[in-house]
Amino acid sequence: MSKLEDIVSLCKRRGFIFPGSDIYGGMAGTWDFGPLGVMLKKNLMDSWWHFFVEKRDDMYGVDAAILMNPRTWEASGHTATFADPLVECKECKSRFRADKIANNITESVTTEEFLNTHTKCPVCGKENWGPIRKFNMMFETHVGAVLPDDNAELADKNKAYLRPETAQGIFTNYKNIVDTIYPDLPFGIAQQGKSFRNEISPRDFILRDRECYQMEIEYFVKPDTWEENFEKMRALQHDFLANVAGLKSEDIHEYEVPAEDRAHYSKRTIDFMFDYPNGEEELMGLAYRTDFDLANIARESGKSMEYRDKKTNETFVPHIIEPSIGVERLFLAVLSTAYTEDEIDGEKRTILKLPTHLAPYKFCVSPLLKNKPELVEKAREVYNLLKEKYTFVTWDDSGNIGKRYRKQDEIGTPKCIVIDFDTLEDDTVTIRDRDTATQIRKKIAEL
Ligand SMILES: [Zn+2]
Repeated sequence: MSKLEDIVSLCKRRGFIFPGSDIYGGMAGTWDFGPLGVMLKKNLMDSWWHFFVEKRDDMYGVDAAILMNPRTWEASGHTATFADPLVECKECKSRFRADKIANNITESVTTEEFLNTHTKCPVCGKENWGPIRKFNMMFETHVGAVLPDDNAELADKNKAYLRPETAQGIFTNYKNIVDTIYPDLPFGIAQQGKSFRNEISPRDFILRDRECYQMEIEYFVKPDTWEENFEKMRALQHDFLANVAGLKSEDIHEYEVPAEDRAHYSKRTIDFMFDYPNGEEELMGLAYRTDFDLANIARESGKSMEYRDKKTNETFVPHIIEPSIGVERLFLAVLSTAYTEDEIDGEKRTILKLPTHLAPYKFCVSPLLKNKPELVEKAREVYNLLKEKYTFVTWDDSGNIGKRYRKQDEIGTPKCIVIDFDTLEDDTVTIRDRDTATQIRKKIAEL
């Protein structure tokens, strides 16, 4: 089994992530986060928010609507260019993203270039392809009362999209924020939220799914300062990934995206790649978007996006540096870093070595024996005390103590606290450390 399969299996077994709509046979590219997954994801998102927004003086938050006026996507270029090269096998009718099944081609591959790769159909093994077609990845919907037998014109007039990125909800609020908060440049606007992409072939667990949480910052800068601000943001991302998300810097590789592969709006992009269990994949991106977005909005809306410098009275359209990360991608990077197998006294075990601030539970409290009321009562007392103080505390009196340790190791609980007969005598408890499996005794008052 690959490590990814082990992680998927652990996620299901312990209630981190379930396949979406599993009970009805699933829904490709969707995943449901269970109780433990919600806690870890929330810790990750809160840590990001704390690091990039709350701790700083130059960042502001927004939470924009998922449904946006379709002109947003006209202005941003998504209606025209947010598309993947779709190719269909004429033999078995399977559809694929051409650049994902052939080697050494990009998203802008032509039919001829694709045919020259002599790629075989991953499903039936034949080589009989239709032409490359552009498939727009935005999910369409209709806003308001549109019936199936309404005419196409009405349907078109009411067409909207589930947002394919959170960034546009930031750009469209730039003017609101400048007019209400009067921030000095440089400043950033941050948003966390769901975005939707109709991936042709979702795969690799939560890496390529059809809806995901994004955490994005648009950092507005004076045009001639973009380079220094880009470097500042770049260093900040590494700081977050290493010191908050707990990733190893040797697993992160910067990839300077060459001009021909960059998104249509970007003058410089660095992809932060991560060594996932199944190979290197993009974890996050850092892009210099120039004034592309604000200029588009100014053109489409007819409203000025100029910023007036309070000291010099100079006016200009700010340029933008954008760090963008997918929560699920980060979640999987954190899990693959934390996932460890070792042996304790000849017995194999699986541990999630999560940083304490990310672990779903910080402590697990249990009585040594479930059938001794005096132990249970004392353990409840300790549990309530810790719960008051640390919130993220769990109770476990199932099975024997060894089984409880295995379970807490698997969900990443850093410390297990056991109440035994000595506790009743001297008010000390056993504290067992997740990573080393060593045990010490401590007074309850010192916890
Ligand atoms: Zn086929």
